[in-house]
Amino acid sequence: MVIAKKKKVVVGGTFEILHRGHESLLRKAFKLGQVTIGLTSNVFAQKLKKRKAGDFKQRKKELEGFIKKEFKAQAEIVKIEDKFGFTLEEDFDYIVVSPETYKTALLINRKRQKRNKKPIEIVKIDFVLDKDGKPISATKILKKGLQPTQQGKNIIKLLVVGPLLTNCYLVISAGELLIIDPGGEGGKILKEIEVSEAKLKYIINTHNHPDHISANEKIRKEAGAEILIDLRNGDKIRIGNSVLKVIQTPGHTKDSICLLGKGFIFTGDTLFKDGKGRTDLPGGSQEDLEKSLEKLKKILKPGMTVYPGHGEIFKIK
Ligand SMILES: [Zn+2]
Repeated sequence: MVIAKKKKVVVGGTFEILHRGHESLLRKAFKLGQVTIGLTSNVFAQKLKKRKAGDFKQRKKELEGFIKKEFKAQAEIVKIEDKFGFTLEEDFDYIVVSPETYKTALLINRKRQKRNKKPIEIVKIDFVLDKDGKPISATKILKKGLQPTQQGKNIIKLLVVGPLLTNCYLVISAGELLIIDPGGEGGKILKEIEVSEAKLKYIINTHNHPDHISANEKIRKEAGAEILIDLRNGDKIRIGNSVLKVIQTPGHTKDSICLLGKGFIFTGDTLFKDGKGRTDLPGGSQEDLEKSLEKLKKILKPGMTVYPGHGEIFKIK
């Protein structure tokens, strides 16, 4: 019996914020054979993008998770310090590129020829376009939207909405998106969803007050997400490579919850930088709130980032 040898495929990039462009490139690569990915080092990425990019280790971890989830596959990921990486030494059957990196592939083959190495067959995919008809790129996603913060496996964006200045959060992980507390200004939130180039999966409210839920329906209708209600202690919410755990924290309202991630927490109106939430509104209970804060005390660790329902984001000391 003859077993066909798997073709060797190479791709390269920074893979900073994983978007549909990456998905399309990698899908092609995995169709062709065994994939090796040249992932830019921190120094090289900064030179290339003319700005600081996400940390190599973090990008590598995210990329591995993305590949496992999207393609049920594995790739060898190798750090590269320049645009040629290991492609001048090692032989490959295919190199998969975007129109943007096509020239690099030509250059690689020219250099290989000089070294008496056989050329690598170039497979060029089309640009994946955003809604403005322009190629998707991480730099653009970062520039166009709000200033995001990297929080472990996630990108978190804060959008302050409505007359009560509610903190609405976008949590992005590996191409999927969760919205917490769309309390108003649905149009503004929808625009941010579009810019993020991620697929909206869920809408979650930390509690049922109007300033935290007002734009639920508009977003659900226009972006097609599921509104998660009746969440219980210990429920797990999966977004991309990330998991958030529900912690029920009654007090401010009966239905108040917090959402715990790795190293961070969304606390709604239960806990703020300068204190706890109010309990004088219908359904509020001072006693319940004290119990909930005791519960949180056991969970909150120094260095953890707290994303509250109003006011400043802060760290636990
Ligand atoms: Zn409230």
